[in-house]
Order: sequence, then C-alpha cells, then structure tokens
Amino acid sequence: MGKLVRALSADGSVLCSSVDAADICNEIVKIHSPSPVATAAMGRLCAAGAIMGALMKGEDDALTLRINGGGVGGTIVCAADYMGNVRCYCENPQADLPLKENGKLDVGGFVGRDGFLAVIRDLGLKEPYATQSPIVSGEIAEDITSYYAISEQIPTVCALGVLVDRDHSVKAAGGYMIQLVPPINEAAIDFIEKNIKNMQSVTQMLSDGKTPEEIALMGLEGLDGEILDSWDCGYKCTCSRERTQRMLISLGKKELVQLAEEAEGDTEVNCQFCGKKYYFSRQELEELAKNC
Ligand SMILES: [Zn+2]
Repeated sequence: MGKLVRALSADGSVLCSSVDAADICNEIVKIHSPSPVATAAMGRLCAAGAIMGALMKGEDDALTLRINGGGVGGTIVCAADYMGNVRCYCENPQADLPLKENGKLDVGGFVGRDGFLAVIRDLGLKEPYATQSPIVSGEIAEDITSYYAISEQIPTVCALGVLVDRDHSVKAAGGYMIQLVPPINEAAIDFIEKNIKNMQSVTQMLSDGKTPEEIALMGLEGLDGEILDSWDCGYKCTCSRERTQRMLISLGKKELVQLAEEAEGDTEVNCQFCGKKYYFSRQELEELAKNC
C-alpha cells in the first residue's frame, strides 16, 4: 500500500502533504507495462493525484488530472478519490525516449510542453468543476505548482519523483506538497524556502529510508509542524459491469445498435485503468440500446 501523511504548522498556516507511492507505481508497471519514462510520468501524476484527492472533503468527491503537452506519451489521466486512492492510464504507455543529458528520464519530453494540465473535480454538484493551466515544463511537479498559482491562487511547492530500476520495477516513488493556507503568514515563506533547499530529491529521501511522516515534517521545519493525519492509499480501480453498461448506454442508441449488428460473438470492453475485460453478448447490447 501507499501511504499518505499530512502535517500542519503550529499556527495552522502551512500544510505539508507527503505520499509514498512506490506500491502504486509498481501496480502501474504490472497493469500497463509502461516504458521507464512512462512509469515516471504516470507515477508522478498519481503521486500528485493522491495528495490532491486527499484534499477533497466528501466521500463521493472525485478528482481527475489530465495532462497532454503533445509529447510522445499522448494524454495521461489520473483519477483519485478523497482518500487518495488513484488509478491512471496513458495513451501511449510503451512510447520511449532516450535519457536526458543529465542521465534522468525525459518526463518533460514524454508529456510535452505544448498543452494544458486540466484538473476536474466532481463534488456531487450538477456538473463537474474543471479548470486548466498551461503546461510549464511537462515534468509535472512544476505544472502542478503553476496550476495552483494560476487557477487557485494558492502558493504551493510540489516535488514528485519516481526511481525506476533496471528491471523496470520502481525502487522508490512519492512526493510532497507544501501549501500556504489563508490568511497567509509571510514569515512562514522564508522557512519553507530554506526547508526546500535543505531537502534532497524525493526519491533520494525515500531511498534513504525516510518515511512520509519525516518528509512532511521536514517541509515544516522551524514552524513546529505536527502530523495531522495519515493513512494507507493505493492503486484502486472503480470499474464494474454496471459502470461499463452505463458507459455503453452513453454511446447512444445508433452506436450501440451498430455495435450489436457488427458483433461476431461477444463484444469485449476493456477498462482503461486496470485492463479488466467485460463481455457483452449481442442480445445484451440490443437490450442496452433500448435504454438509450
Ligand atoms: Zn478497471
């Protein structure tokens, strides 16, 4: 399981969330067989999704992060619930790129820099609430930081990392996010800047055995931070036969009737997030078409 931790400064003005997402990333590897750079991109988006999902309040609230900057990976989507459980897919998970000159995976090139990061929140209102901001680097953490600055006017620091091993498994992965809670305490900013400078990369800290609790508190050094809450989160798909039926119905009558007519044997529908297969007979498709 992954682990999510949140810590709050003594004056309540700074929140630091931290996640260990190694297990989540290894689940991504198992389900999607991604290239190493795709694993890093999907894993970073999921680490951010887990943290941001957990900032929602309601049990049925849902968050979707969608990023596409025209890179070789195509669109990457992460969906999260209010507990920080995530699931994701990538349009071209097998697309690969050479390492950057510094030896790092080229996540920015995989995602691309010409496009948007969209954040969609379904809070049980009539329509989901969607906002987007232009991609800054495609490295994802910077894009999340920029999203909060532009779309939500919340000063935010975000760091994400995924360390992929030679056998394509994930050695360490996670992230942290420090946010200023209004009314903003200007004095806290100096501490945060100093703390970020002193903190090593996320993957280095996790590889060194630092826990998400320790990382969350390091972000609040000098601000008398205390752990607010912590719990397990993981890669969790929400698909079901009923949801797949609803999706089929949403295609519309014409499309469904055509699908039924053209079907030779059962029609297979794959869940994009977990790869699970659902089968529908011709008769079932015709039955669903009646519900359109
Ligand atoms: Zn699924």
